[in-house]
Amino acid sequence: MVMKIGVLALQGAFIEHIHMLRQIGVEAVEVRLPEDLEDLDGLIIPGGESTTIGKLAVMYQLMDPLRQFAVDRPVWGTCAGMILMAKAIGMDQPLLSVMDIVVERNAFGRQKDSFQEDLYVKVLKNGDSIPFPGIFIRSPRLVQTRGRAVKIASRADGTAVAAVENKLLATAFHPELTSDTRFHQYFLSLIRQ
Ligand code: GLN
Repeated sequence: MVMKIGVLALQGAFIEHIHMLRQIGVEAVEVRLPEDLEDLDGLIIPGGESTTIGKLAVMYQLMDPLRQFAVDRPVWGTCAGMILMAKAIGMDQPLLSVMDIVVERNAFGRQKDSFQEDLYVKVLKNGDSIPFPGIFIRSPRLVQTRGRAVKIASRADGTAVAAVENKLLATAFHPELTSDTRFHQYFLSLIRQ
């Protein structure tokens, strides 16, 4: 059976995730309403502006359905999506708080300080030898992991930028803006587990 993955489509870079998922043979749909979550195998929360995505999710009454979804189904947050998944960020804005991580927003500077860096990510296919192109756009960083289930999956200059907690994945950067499908493949492997 073909997997069906939803991408939260309230704001931000959701279309790029949809294209990449379709490219690797997965059914991909936009999620805007609680009922859109019903028959999904996994969900991606894209990059964008976490305050805007959070406010819209509150308005559309998606916060609790999203939290409920994350209890037993895989969720991957990229950039703003990682912020939304965090337990705490030291600021007051709507969070799903489904992952035991503390995150700092805009940890690498402003939009003009966006950068690309080669990342070695063990959990990816050939991740030790073939670097993954990490695209950082006003990205957050992981300042703390809380539960023992949280594993750091990648670092950029010593700073933690990706983590896995059981079936939850968070990346501070944007794999959907590259042509490297390995992170999306890895997410599928979390679903199959
Ligand atoms: N700086 C944004 C925020 O704090 C995240 C940027 C991104 O998703 N590329 O929400």
